[in-house]
Amino acid sequence: MKADALIWAEKIQEKMRSDRRCIHQTPELSFQEFHTMQYICSRLDTLRIPYKKEIAGSGVVAQINGNRPANGNRPGKCLLLRADMDALPLQEENTSVYRSQKNGIMHACGHDAHTAILLGVCEILNDHRDHFSGIVKLVFQPGEETTGGAAPMIQAGVLEHPAVDACIALHVDPDLDAGTIRIKPGALYASPDDFRITIKGRGGHGAQPHLAVDPIITAAQIVTQLQTIISRNTDPFEQAVITVGSLHAGDTSNVIPETAEIFGTARALSNQMRHFLKKRIYEITKGVCEAYGANFCYDFIFLYPPLINDAQLASKLLESGCHVLGKKHCVWGGLPTMAGEDFAYFAEKCPSVLFKLGCRNTEKGITEPIHSPRFDIDETCLQYGAAVFTDFALRFLA
Ligand SMILES: [Zn+2]
Ligand SMILES: [Zn+2]
Repeated sequence: MKADALIWAEKIQEKMRSDRRCIHQTPELSFQEFHTMQYICSRLDTLRIPYKKEIAGSGVVAQINGNRPANGNRPGKCLLLRADMDALPLQEENTSVYRSQKNGIMHACGHDAHTAILLGVCEILNDHRDHFSGIVKLVFQPGEETTGGAAPMIQAGVLEHPAVDACIALHVDPDLDAGTIRIKPGALYASPDDFRITIKGRGGHGAQPHLAVDPIITAAQIVTQLQTIISRNTDPFEQAVITVGSLHAGDTSNVIPETAEIFGTARALSNQMRHFLKKRIYEITKGVCEAYGANFCYDFIFLYPPLINDAQLASKLLESGCHVLGKKHCVWGGLPTMAGEDFAYFAEKCPSVLFKLGCRNTEKGITEPIHSPRFDIDETCLQYGAAVFTDFALRFLA
């Protein structure tokens, strides 16, 4: 028997598709999503759902109160559902009728779908307020792809008044077929921290290296030695990545330059590992610089924390997934990714879970990875995302 949530989501499938296509055609970069914000607000106006806008710039928070009395004396709970809104600086190569109308900007991470799904959930839950008690907060968040809109929205108070008991989000996943979801308890995304090392040597003539302190040799040693952190210092069963993505020094063949710059990313799945990487990069840099007589500046730039899914909520979500999609369409566990996701800030403050929503359709040729200029989704995934969100909300707020 088909789950109610899926029947309701199927009914508004066309609306979600049209929302997704409208947003896809007019993508906006991080923290510039004001047209998208207006689009969301006008849809919420039509649905007569109250909201606050311009939170952390272009964020929107809608609120729907359940009509069912809460069990016994306890007040109803509050569940937060989150969608991100921003697009990427990328030229779309798809030729679909709904392709991006903006040069050099594209929804290549599926945030258009996330927003359309959450608008769909707004409509469904608003139409079925008799089915739950408590409160649902629906958060449309800017800036996920850059410095993150989650932390400023939390600072603006979205987790308070009323206090949120749990948060849930989804991300489209082209590694899974549409109609399938994946839920993983524990670490799901990494902390994508950056580090920058400036080595200060002493410049000189390329013919007289003994009178100079060569920052290039020093930098080369540091880059090589940094690779021993993951191979020699971290537990083989714990995931971490160190990549040097930029190395700059000198302008010509016969001059030893004054400085060299190393810019890299250090990624971990726990805060403990983040701090360990920070410390080891410093120690290696210090040791090598001392050995070569160079000075250095070191910055470790903490970005998003690792996203840790709450195990209990993840199991609850699995129940919803099985109910809506059937057990064989719910993948449990699997590997985390070393990419970052700023929903992690919600998860740091409150029990949270983010699940992966399959959007691949091999028969239709929809297989491109996210952040590809040819990325697209099988739009049937919109109804499945909305149905799982809805079923989870009804169970959580029963
Ligand atoms: Zn992305
Ligand atoms: Zn994304």
